[in-house]
Formats: sequence, structure tokens, C-alpha cells
Amino acid sequence: NYAIGIDIGGTKTALGIIDPSGQVLAKTSLPTDHSVSPHVMVDRMAAAIQQMLMEHQVEESNILGIGIGAPGPLNTQKGEITAPPNLKGWWNFPIVESLQRHFSYKMAFENDATAAALAEKWLGAAKDAEHFVFITISTGIGAGIFSHGRLITGATGNAGDVGHFVIDPSAGTCVCGQQGCWEYVASGTAIARQASELLGRDVTSKEVFALAADGHQEMKALVDQVFRYIGIGCVTLINTLDPEKLVIGGGVSQIGEPLFSAVREYVSKYALNPSGRSTPIVPAALLQDAGLIGAAALIHVDYK
Ligand code: ADP
Ligand code: ZN
Repeated sequence: NYAIGIDIGGTKTALGIIDPSGQVLAKTSLPTDHSVSPHVMVDRMAAAIQQMLMEHQVEESNILGIGIGAPGPLNTQKGEITAPPNLKGWWNFPIVESLQRHFSYKMAFENDATAAALAEKWLGAAKDAEHFVFITISTGIGAGIFSHGRLITGATGNAGDVGHFVIDPSAGTCVCGQQGCWEYVASGTAIARQASELLGRDVTSKEVFALAADGHQEMKALVDQVFRYIGIGCVTLINTLDPEKLVIGGGVSQIGEPLFSAVREYVSKYALNPSGRSTPIVPAALLQDAGLIGAAALIHVDYK
């Protein structure tokens, strides 16, 4: 009994067939084509799904449902993608209704960070936790909140939009209009932007970490500041939700130990839990196909 997972992103949309143990039976991906309407993209998704089902001889009766993960803001009550900055042509698009024209299966729809959190609970770094937060530090910063054994989705599926926690109000203006949001100062995009300003040339966040590791003082100071900002956001989450652990994923977390040890040190200073131990902070376990598995988890795991 399979789930179909669809992970919609600004550059590509991943589609797959996933079994109840989380194995990916088949997967494919479509470039997110911004020159066509989302209706056309949905037609392409439907064709790609039909083809996968045919190639792998999966009977319609063996499909439990379709799980869809998409960037926020969205409205899961209405089944709409609302206003994600990287999907401008999709604003207010009724994705669930549009897919339902092609398939009569049950549909589940959540924001991608929420879906990724559920995947970490299902198969990843939070299997044993009833209370945890999954944080993704990538192009932006987002989170999925799991509390009392349930996903916290909020009224419209936008809970966990922690990228707009204000961390440093003396910093510049975020896309949301506030000053110094967490993702404005500590995402991969933010690292690259700040370093490019300092160095007077375009650099990627990966390069910034490499320069800092090689002893470049200015880049080292920037990286240390970013780690501190990540620590500040983590302390806020710990103080708000009292989780058993924090799970950190996303492209920037690939830098690994330097980030985790700096954040653990900051958190252990400022967010002791009542027993006096600090909250464990661990890397996400699902890297490859995390978005797809998250989307499929919405079908395979009972989360509401
Ligand atoms: P997306 O935001 O599309 O989900 P990613 O999770 O890969 O994609 O995040 C992209 C961001 O992460 C970019 O800013 C990129 O520079 C940064 N990034 C990706 N890989 C690494 C790495 N190994 N080290 C540091 N930063 C990285
Ligand atoms: Zn913001």
C-alpha cells in the first residue's frame, strides 16, 4: 500500500511512490517551469505520476493517498498555495482541487518544513521524541513543530514560520517588512549576502565557511555571528516549547560540527531545561529525498 509524495519547490518538483516503511519505490522530478501556469504544471505532475504507476505496475487500489508538501505561506484549510516568494505565479493557486481533478485519492497538504518534521519523526532523528522542533536552515529558515506526539500545524498550516522571528532589529529589512528576521541574518542567503557586501564580490555560503575555516578573520567573525544568531533562535524555541530535542537540517547544516558545537554551546549557556541538562541538538537524518518522504509521511503517518 503506497503513498504518492509530491514536493513542490521553487526550482523543481519531486514526485515519488513511497511504501509504508519509507522506501522510495520510484521517483522523478520536474523542473518548476515559471513560464507556464500552475495548471499546466499540475497536468505535467499528473502525467508523471501516471507514468510511474504504470512503469512499476502499481494498481490504483494500492494507493492510499497523495501527500503534498509546498513552501509557505499556504492555506491548508482551503488547499491553496498562498504567497511563497519563490513561486510568484502560484499565488492563491488551489493545488489540492487541481490535483483532485486528476486523481480521486485522499489528499494531505502541509508546508514543506512541517512535512519534513513528520519525516524525521517517522524515520529520522526524532523517532523517539514526543516533543521536538525540526529547523531547516537553507535559502530561508523554517520549522516544523511536533508537540505532545502531534504535529502543530496551526489554523492554516503556517505554524513554525520561525524564519520571521526578529533576532536583530538593528539589521536590514526582511521580505516580510520587519527588521532583522532570523532568516534575514542567518539563512544561507543571508550568509552569502553579508559576505558579498564585506568582500565586494559574490560568494556562496559554502565559500564563506571554507574561508572562515582557512583563518579569514572577517569571514570567521561573520560565521561566529551567524552561529550565535542560530543559537538565539534555538533558545527562543526551547523556551517556548520545552522540546526533548531540536533537529537541524537544510543546506547550511551540511557544514556540520562547527555549527552544531557552536549552537550547543550557546544553548547550554542560556536554555537549561529544569533538570539542568541542555536540550540535545542533532542533525537531521533524512537528507536525500527528505521532501518526498515528508510528503509521503503525510499519508503514511497519522499526525492529526
Ligand atoms: P532549499 O532552500 O532550496 O531547500 P538547500 O536546503 O540546499 O535548498 O539550501 C540552500 C542554501 O544552503 C544555499 O544558501 C546554499 O548556499 C546553502 N548550502 C548548501 N549546501 C551547503 C554546504 N555544504 N555548506 C554550506 N552551505 C550550504
Ligand atoms: Zn521576516
